[in-house]
Order: sequence, then C-alpha cells, then structure tokens
Amino acid sequence: MIQVLDKTFDVFLSAQQIQDRIVEMAAEIDREYRDKDLVFISVLNGSFMFASDLMKRITIPCEISFVKVSSYKGMNSSGRVDELIGLNTNIEDRDVIILEDIVDTGITMNKIYSYLDSFHPSSLKITSLLFKPDAFDGKHAPDQIGFSIPNDFVVGYGLDYNEKGRNLDAIYKLKETE
Ligand code: 5GP
Repeated sequence: MIQVLDKTFDVFLSAQQIQDRIVEMAAEIDREYRDKDLVFISVLNGSFMFASDLMKRITIPCEISFVKVSSYKGMNSSGRVDELIGLNTNIEDRDVIILEDIVDTGITMNKIYSYLDSFHPSSLKITSLLFKPDAFDGKHAPDQIGFSIPNDFVVGYGLDYNEKGRNLDAIYKLKETE
C-alpha cells in the first residue's frame, strides 16, 4: 500500500510484471518491423518511462520522437482545445508506432492519430502499456496492449495523480474504499 497526496493505492502490477511484458512486446515489434523504417512517437508526459524501457529492449534500427498534448481553455463548445506540439521528425512514408501509457476513453488518441496520419506515414500503429476496454469509446483501439485493465484509476510508472507518483516503478490502483 502507498500514499500519493491524499489518496491510498494498492499494488496492481509489479515492476517485474511490467518489465516481463515489455520484453514480450519488444520481441513482437522486433519481428514485425525488421524490414521497416520504424519511428516511435512517444506521447508525453505519461509514456516517458514505458518508452524508455521498451526502446532499450528493441534490437532493430529505430528512432524516437516525442509529442505532447497541450490543453488550454479555448473557444470550442467544451471550452477546451487540445493541440499537439513537438513533432520535429519527418514521418512521411515511414512506419510509425505511437507509444502511450494508457488509452482510456480514446478521445486523446483520436486527436493524436488524426494529427499524425495527416503527415502520411506508410503505417501508423498504436502501442499502449495500459488499455481500459470498458471505458473505450474511441476510433482507434491500440494494436498492441501491455495490459487490459478494469476501469480503476491507476498511478505509477509514468502515470500521475496531480503530477505526483510518476516516479514509482510499479503501477498502483486507487484503494477500493476511496
Ligand atoms: P483518454 O480518456 O482520452 O483515453 O485518456 C486521456 C488521458 O487520461 C490519458 O492519456 C491519461 O493521461 C489520463 N488517464 C486516463 N486514465 C487514467 C488513469 O487511470 N490514471 C492516470 N494517472 N491517468 C489516466
């Protein structure tokens, strides 16, 4: 059990479980992208740890670049505008894998996917460490999933609770009673 700010969390996926799954995922990518021009696009902030550990296990030639979804108050109906910033790599005619920490409703991924697709990559796939199938209502489900998880709030391994908890090497879920 751990405390992050005012909330208590229980261990959900141990550091070892995460690393073991990453080894398997990297091996799949190695096999599928052997003759491709692979570029990872890691979505900050949450995916930094996953991207780093996954990439260390990749043995074929590859590149990585980072994007960030910046939300600010705008004039659209929801009062929020999301903008993708930071893409400084040419992805046209290249094989792109988007790296996410978690896909929940899928709304964020809808935006990231259509933004990257507009640069005409030869292929565009999604790898997400975590996926919440019961919450998902998006257009682009991950092609490769580390773990499908229930609809609970999780922290650790890059995922935050009010910016805290990203440093934890395991993934924790909010305690039932809270
Ligand atoms: P979406 O609902 O658009 O798929 O997910 C949007 C964002 O919500 C994710 O990228 C992630 O930052 C955040 N998110 C969704 N579920 C969780 C969760 O259980 N824990 C944490 N820390 N963030 C989450």
